[in-house]
Amino acid sequence: MRVAFLGLGDLGSLMAAHLTAAPFSLTVWNRTERKARAFASEHSVRAGTSPGDAVRDAEVVVTCLPSSAEVEAVLHGEDGMLESFARGSVLLDCTSGDPATSRSIAAELSTRGVGFIDAPVSGGTTAARAGTLTVMWGGTQEDFEVVRAVVEAFGKKIVRAGPVGSGDALKAVNNALLAVHILSTGEGLAMLVKAGVDPGVALDVINASSGRSNTSENLIPQRVLTRAFPRTFRLALLDKDIGIAESLGAELGMETPLISLAARRMHEARASLGEESDHVEAVKMIEAENDVVIR
Ligand code: NDP
Repeated sequence: MRVAFLGLGDLGSLMAAHLTAAPFSLTVWNRTERKARAFASEHSVRAGTSPGDAVRDAEVVVTCLPSSAEVEAVLHGEDGMLESFARGSVLLDCTSGDPATSRSIAAELSTRGVGFIDAPVSGGTTAARAGTLTVMWGGTQEDFEVVRAVVEAFGKKIVRAGPVGSGDALKAVNNALLAVHILSTGEGLAMLVKAGVDPGVALDVINASSGRSNTSENLIPQRVLTRAFPRTFRLALLDKDIGIAESLGAELGMETPLISLAARRMHEARASLGEESDHVEAVKMIEAENDVVIR
C-alpha cells in the first residue's frame, strides 16, 4: 500500500515509524527538510521533495500538522498537492483539527474523487511509539476501509465518532478536559503546599479519592514533582485544542464558562512560557503567580 506521511513532528515521526515496512511503501515529507531526510535515511524510505511530489500515486495520505490551518495551507500550496491526489485515494488527517475546516476540506476533496477522514489521536508520544494510540475518526465507513490498515498500524482503540468533523470535536473536548485537569490540579496542589502539606502525600490521598485524574496519577508525579517537565506535547497545541472546544461551544450557541476560563488561562500560559514549552509546564504559571513550587 502506497502511503504518504506529511508532518514529522513530536507525534507524526513516531506514527510514521509504524508505516516503514511491508505492506506499506512510505514516502515522507516535512516542512523542515532535514527532518524528512533523517527519517528517510534511518528507515530506508523515500523523502518527497514537496507535498505534491510525496502524495503523487499514494493510496493513503496522512497529515499530522499543528492545526487544520496548516493542513489547508499545505493542500493549497503552490507545488500543487491538491492536483496531485490520485482519484480514489483518501486523506487521513491525524491533526487535532477543527470540525468546520475538516468539513470544508472533505467537500473540496470529494469534487476530485478523494476521500477524507479526520482522525485525531490520543495517548501521546508513549502510545505513538508503542503503536497503541486511541484513534477517534469522523467520515464514511467506505473511506475508512481504504485507510484501515494504516490506522491499525499505529492505533489500538479505534472508534468512529460520526460524520466528518466528529473526530475533531471529540478530541477538542477531551483536551479541554485535560487543560481543566492540569490547571485545577496545579492550583489545588499549590494551595496544599502553601498550607504545609507535602505534595507527594497529597497525591497519595487524591489518587485514592474522587479528585484523581490522569493528571494527578501520572503527569504531576512524573513531570512536576520530579521537575523533569519533558517536552512531549507542546502547550501551544493544548491552547489551540481548548480554543477549538470553546469555539465549537459558541457555534452551537452554548454557555461554557468553565472551558472559556481554562482557555483564557492556557492562552496566558502560552504567552508567558512560549511556543516550545510542554503542556504540563502550565503549572509553572500557577507556581509563579503564587510564589510556590510543587515538589
Ligand atoms: P509538533 O509541533 O511537534 O510538529 C508539528 C509538525 O507540523 C512538524 O512536522 C512541523 O514541521 C509541521 N508544520 C508546522 N507548521 C507547518 C506549516 N505551516 N506547514 C507545513 N508543516 C508545518 O506537533 P505534534 O507532532 O506534537 O502534533 C501534531 C498534531 O497532533 C497536533 O495537531 C497535535 O495537537 C496533535 N497531538 C499531539 C500529541 C503529542 O503528544 N505531541 C498527542 C495528541 C495529538 P517542522 O518540522 O518544519 O516544524
